[in-house]
Amino acid sequence: MTANLEGGCACRAVRYKLASAPMIVHCCHCRDCQRQTGSGFVINALIEADRVTLLSENPEPVGVPTDSGRPHDIYRCPRCQTAVWSIYGARAALRFLRVGTLDDPASLPPDAHIFTRSKLPWVGLPAGVPAFEVYYDSKEIWSAESLARRAAVLG
Ligand SMILES: [Zn+2]
Ligand SMILES: [Zn+2]
Repeated sequence: MTANLEGGCACRAVRYKLASAPMIVHCCHCRDCQRQTGSGFVINALIEADRVTLLSENPEPVGVPTDSGRPHDIYRCPRCQTAVWSIYGARAALRFLRVGTLDDPASLPPDAHIFTRSKLPWVGLPAGVPAFEVYYDSKEIWSAESLARRAAVLG
């Protein structure tokens, strides 16, 4: 169990604490994540909503368009607009928490790199971390414990 899993937005109006390690950490290099962050990729920790304890005011959802047409809400600080997590497909029990908002983002390194087909050419990937052109079969990458947690949260 990693030590400090607290984090929040730039202005500190939104603060949260994770009750446990996430199920998995993705580094996503897809074009949507690049555009929405204005960066090369996003780092998402997938964790149950009830394991994210809010220590402050609520972030507010902002819907963004998706290729699939399924909803994607990015939750942002109402004051400084920092994105702290996303909810995909209206599955409110599962959060994609932005690892860069942790006080110690190095505590949750990626377990997998996904959508590397659109990875920026100057981003190098570390040896030993699984990387996928698009996506992967969860049963091959997720731990048994994480698969059970996901099954519990998605029903
Ligand atoms: Zn803020
Ligand atoms: Zn993405």
